Amino acid sequence: MQAPGRSDDDAIPAFRRDAAALLGEQGFLTDAETLAPSLRDWRGIYQGRACGLALPASTEDAAALVKLCVHHGIALVPQGGNTGLSGAATPDDSGRSVVVSLRRMNRIRSLDLGNDSITVEAGCILADIQAAAAAAERFFPLSLGAEGSCQIGGNLSTNAGGINVLKYGNARDLALGLEVVLPDGSVLDDLAPLRKDNTGYDLKHLFIGAEGTLGLITAASLKLYPALKGRATALVALGDLSQAPKLLARCRGATADQIVSFELLPRFGIDLAATHFEIRCPLDQATAWYLLIEAATPAADFDVSLALERALGEAMEAGELADGVMAESDAQRANLWRLREGMVEAQPREGASIKHDISVPVAEVPAFVTAALATLTAADSGLRPLVFGHIGDGNLHFNILQPHSADPRAFQARTDAINRLVHDLVAAHGGSISAEHGIGQLRKGELQRLKSPAALALMRQVKAAIDPGNLFNPGKVI
Ligand SMILES: Cc1cc2nc3c(=O)[nH]c(=O)nc-3n(C[C@H](O)[C@H](O)[C@H](O)COP(=O)(O)OP(=O)(O)OC[C@H]3O[C@@H](n4cnc5c(N)ncnc54)[C@H](O)[C@@H]3O)c2cc1C
Repeated sequence: MQAPGRSDDDAIPAFRRDAAALLGEQGFLTDAETLAPSLRDWRGIYQGRACGLALPASTEDAAALVKLCVHHGIALVPQGGNTGLSGAATPDDSGRSVVVSLRRMNRIRSLDLGNDSITVEAGCILADIQAAAAAAERFFPLSLGAEGSCQIGGNLSTNAGGINVLKYGNARDLALGLEVVLPDGSVLDDLAPLRKDNTGYDLKHLFIGAEGTLGLITAASLKLYPALKGRATALVALGDLSQAPKLLARCRGATADQIVSFELLPRFGIDLAATHFEIRCPLDQATAWYLLIEAATPAADFDVSLALERALGEAMEAGELADGVMAESDAQRANLWRLREGMVEAQPREGASIKHDISVPVAEVPAFVTAALATLTAADSGLRPLVFGHIGDGNLHFNILQPHSADPRAFQARTDAINRLVHDLVAAHGGSISAEHGIGQLRKGELQRLKSPAALALMRQVKAAIDPGNLFNPGKVI
């Protein structure tokens, strides 16, 4: 709380002075040029203001900083790599927040091969944790397009997903323990890398996926897995989208459950990737839907390629597939993944788009996609839906590109109406309006509209109990 007798105008200079004394020249920055990248989100939708950028170098400094913020009534906006896609790491425009980055807290504290765990500071870049695991002949499975920039603190706070969720789970499933600075400046040490601990509420899960609204994650202990020894990648053309769940079950069974990625690619997206980049689809069959399937095994003597090939051969005989190809080299594998990445990168070159990150139960995906495409076409036959993503988890990036002739601004003005169309169908199919990108600022309104009143009330009670002064990332999530 702000000190008694002090006005708002006094609070910011006083906070700046105390923060600079606490964190030093390297640890507290206020010049506009340095702050600028931290005040804007990755997609360039949100712009905020802040009274400083704090870079604590230890948990003790982070805890002292939080106490200073409480004292001066300054809000905290935790920020990792600032790659989030919901505007959750961008401060509001009051200027009464400090952005807190843990990029100086990027040490690997320990790696325990006997326990198959790694304990890291929250400012570690995700790719650095993967590399540390690989150097110890282990595998850290969290993997996503932003892995060279995002930090594990951000990954945990968004409960990030990515391309290996099918086998290894979300960030939440990979966390064994957390260290968190709470909104009163005390430190919750829940870092022990235990695989079993039933001593009451599992507190770490409150902070995972909380988008920085309940505290500052300063360290995490994480699960490691055996290094992968064999990998097989295939691209298949589906005769019909309704075959996808059946094919997933078939592939999982035939490969001893070693499927790591099961990604949906629409023909439209493959054509976009080929139009804008030098990427060629190796399949001649022109069907509406394709799947990029990858299996990976830690067992050196298990021929995962043969197992996947057999499963796909049987699927072809059963009429579930129209065509398929297995990658026979690293270059061919990379080319298949370039198709998947290329359609993402091609989107901005096609003008404006309205994006959704939704999930429905896996078995519901075909019915949902059919209904959603029909509804959108009925609303406007010029809309160009680009539907792709982690179908194996029931998670689709349901993006809608502007009609060819539309003015981008006029198209963006239709965002709320189009969101409603898509999200109402998601709700009707028992799904979620945010599968992996979180709520942040972007989905706050839709969360209010579609989450149950009981769930919303409980979320507010949790927030009020842990952060009664609403100092942590105000204006986000709820
Ligand atoms: C090219 C690209 C591909 C992507 N692919 C995927 C994908 O496949 N799957 C997926 O899930 N996401 C994906 N994302 C989204 C994004 O990378 C993830 O949400 C990532 O986890 C964010 O991490 P960050 O460090 O950048 O966090 P930020 O964007 O900096 O912050 C995200 C949230 O976490 C909070 N936060 C950050 N650090 C802390 C901390 N130490 N303590 C408390 N709160 C904190 C922030 O306040 C904010 O609410 C992608 C983004 C891009 C740009």
